[in-house]
Amino acid sequence: MINIIKKKKLGQELSYNELKYVIEGYINKTIPDYQVSALLMAINIKGMSDEEVFALTDIMINSGDKIDLNPIKGIKVDKHSTGGVGDKTTLILAPLVASTGVIVPKMSGRGLGHTGGTIDKLESIEGFKVNRTNEEFVKQVNEIGVAITEATGDLVPADKLIYSLRDVTGTVESIPLIASSIMSKKIASGADKIVIDIKVGNGALISSLEDAKKLASLMVRIGKKYQKETVCVLTNMNEPLGYAIGNKLEVVEAVNILNGNPYPEDLYRLVVELGSIMVSLGKNIDQKEAKKEVIENLNNGKAYNKFLEMVAYQQGEIDKFYLAEEPILIKSSQDGFINDINTSKLGEIVRHMGAGRLKKGEAIDYEVGFVLNKKVGDIIMNGDELLKIYLGNQDTNINEIISCFKISDEIKKKEPLIYEIIK
Ligand code: URA
Repeated sequence: MINIIKKKKLGQELSYNELKYVIEGYINKTIPDYQVSALLMAINIKGMSDEEVFALTDIMINSGDKIDLNPIKGIKVDKHSTGGVGDKTTLILAPLVASTGVIVPKMSGRGLGHTGGTIDKLESIEGFKVNRTNEEFVKQVNEIGVAITEATGDLVPADKLIYSLRDVTGTVESIPLIASSIMSKKIASGADKIVIDIKVGNGALISSLEDAKKLASLMVRIGKKYQKETVCVLTNMNEPLGYAIGNKLEVVEAVNILNGNPYPEDLYRLVVELGSIMVSLGKNIDQKEAKKEVIENLNNGKAYNKFLEMVAYQQGEIDKFYLAEEPILIKSSQDGFINDINTSKLGEIVRHMGAGRLKKGEAIDYEVGFVLNKKVGDIIMNGDELLKIYLGNQDTNINEIISCFKISDEIKKKEPLIYEIIK
């Protein structure tokens, strides 16, 4: 193992067998956290060749069970996000797309670094069961067309271990590690087509458009190897998506859109765009036609009803879902325009407030978070509300939160929400 770490430290290529040795040893607990951490850091710094990434993905896929969704009729479409701040799209998209008749078998993850995770968000609904056996997962997808569960310990167990180690070792921002992590889970969980939302910007794991394009084409190449059509959508994460950040608060915002409210506008537009791509792939129809169906189902209650059906199936008690506490209202002390939001810092602060983890397996606080009142490009006057803070039993430095918002006299043009689609 020491030689493997040294080899990667020098930027040399690791063979299939060397990577297999590491992954198997880590799963069998014959290789300790600290050696795998060192290797992950070397990979993070030195990168990996395509061959290494294909090998790593393959070893990860074969590290556990693979789900066979072939007995379920129809095209199965999965979606994944590389992670952002306030990204609650999956909570909306999975039931929405399923409400049009497309099958959505979705395995999601927990928070990673400063970004939140769908599984943590769903667990903020009392009783909601995210752990399902593979058989239960298939049964649910077959019966109601949608499931969002945590990848079981048997599905890509290697990723489960490495993902939580990366979360606490500063090694989340690595193109080969992100690509192999996401694609191994997507391929092992059995969908036919995959849509990946690659977040780009100061709140994402990937901050440059150039790196995002590299990641996208790498994932498309991995998909091709396994005959899984993969579409990557590069989207803006230079500010939080929507207004809510924090597990429970994000569920509230998602439900708002599922109920047909086209607000927050950025979140709504993204949901409609990604939803139409998923529906067009799942039904083999053009995207315009798919978009009509997506908007219709947001407006006619079908998407929300599918969400309720999924929550009930997974034993969530939506009637008991409410916000327990009053927020602290923060007002602006100056006039101007919001020029910049330090999104990763906001994500990091909310993680420290308890919405995410600082140690492996730590319990989280579902209640805490922020609801912004202003986004980049908005005008704000002295005394206007900037954001609400849901503090729970936690402590935080309010000035540090306010410092994430740069207010100036200059008008900042709104940036595009969707940069590019790579397939
Ligand atoms: N999502 C994943 O599943 N894995 C990563 O590495 C990053 C985001």
